Formats: sequence, structure tokens, C-alpha cells
Amino acid sequence: MKKTFSFLLVLAGFIMPQMAFGWGMTGHRVIGKIAEMNLGKHTIKNLNQVLDNASVAMVSNWGDFVKSDSALAYTAIWHYKDLPSGLSREEFNKQAITLDNGEVVYRVLQLIAELKKQPDNANNLKMLIHLIGDMHQPLHMGHPEDKGGNMIKIRWMGRETNLHSLWDSGLIDFQQLSYTEYAHYLFKTHTFALPPFKPSMVLDWAWGTYQAAQVVYNSVDQLKNPFYYDYRYLSLLESRLTDAGDHLAIVLNYLYNK
Ligand SMILES: [Zn+2]
Repeated sequence: MKKTFSFLLVLAGFIMPQMAFGWGMTGHRVIGKIAEMNLGKHTIKNLNQVLDNASVAMVSNWGDFVKSDSALAYTAIWHYKDLPSGLSREEFNKQAITLDNGEVVYRVLQLIAELKKQPDNANNLKMLIHLIGDMHQPLHMGHPEDKGGNMIKIRWMGRETNLHSLWDSGLIDFQQLSYTEYAHYLFKTHTFALPPFKPSMVLDWAWGTYQAAQVVYNSVDQLKNPFYYDYRYLSLLESRLTDAGDHLAIVLNYLYNK
């Protein structure tokens, strides 16, 4: 019995790294914490009411947890949008909101519209917080032929993994910071514009991710030297986390600042 259990654990160790979760736990919490630091006092009060005083950072991974519930497994395709490379902005605008190869842009727009009408729907709010985070992970707007980088096998610090997982969590975990340490550092070292929300911004934000994905696809050769890779691409990672926190704050202020 004990042997079978340890065998299962070893097996799980082989399988787990292949599963794509979106930003890992730390990444989502960093984004949630940065957003919180940019929220107005009324927004925070209203969010506390809907979320039963749980913080934005602490509910930010709920969207990944519920995929394990068979009743909510259908939401797994809400977390990404795979698109072919080389789209013009005009083609991108059309393809990004379609429902094939992932639905993240469509669902973010839909959840914002639903929450505008019904702001006390806690599950919709938690899902929106999560999906705005995912929408800024470059490989959540990757290419369908390699499943957003999941099929691109790489080695990172002596370990077999894939490009998608590296950008979900490998690069973030390598920094060895807690989510609060990382969020405070990024908050202090970046500026936040926080313009009033307009729905057209969602496509602008997604376009930024799509362009970042091209940089990440072109980065694979540099993985021969992981320390150089970290040095060269850390600023891209940090600008994605910071933009996601900024954009999440713009949406939450729009929905809950009353
Ligand atoms: Zn996700």
C-alpha cells in the first residue's frame, strides 16, 4: 500500500509540471496585491463586502482551483486565447474575441459587463480577478500549434519543463520572493497611470500580451544559459505582472468605486 502511494507520488511529480495553470500561485497574488495598492478607499470597502474580507491577492487563484470541480471544469478554456503568429492589429481585434482556441478576452469583457449589472456576484468577481491576471501571461496568448508553449520542451536550472510553465511560475519562483515582497518592490519601482476604464482597453491590453508572446517565443535559444535568460527577460516578466496589477485596479475601481 505504502509502495503504491509513493509510486503515485512519483508519477504525479512527472505529470504535474506538464499541466498549465496560468501564472502560478505567487504570480497571481503579486498581481492581486499590486492592484490592491492602487485601489480607492470606496473600492476596497465594497470589495471587502463582496469577498467577505478576503483580499484580492488571496482570491486570485480561485479560478484555477475550480477547474478541478467537474461542475466547473468547462471554465478551463476561459483562461487563455491561442492565436496564430503575425496578425495585424486589425486581424487581432477580430480573432481575439472569437471562441475557438480559448476564450480569455471574450470572458473578461463578459464578466466586466455582468459585474457592472450585478456587482455582488462573488464568483464572477473572483473569476474576473483571475482571468485579468492570466490575460497578461504572454503564453496565455500563444500559438495553438504548440498549445501556448506547453509543447515546447526546455530545461530550466537542470530540470525538464516547458516554455509555458517557465513563464507561469519557473521564472517567478527563481526570484525567491514572497508575493508581498515582490508586489511591494514592483509597486515602488513602477508608475501607475490608472485612467478611467473603457471596454476598448481590454483589447489594447490583450494586444500587449500578444506582442510579449512573440518576444517569449524568440527567447528559447537563450535558455542555453538560464542565468543569462533570467537577467535578460526579467524586466519583461516584471512589466507583465505590473501591467496586470495596474489593469486589474482600473477595472476594480470602475466596478466598485461608488
Ligand atoms: Zn488560470
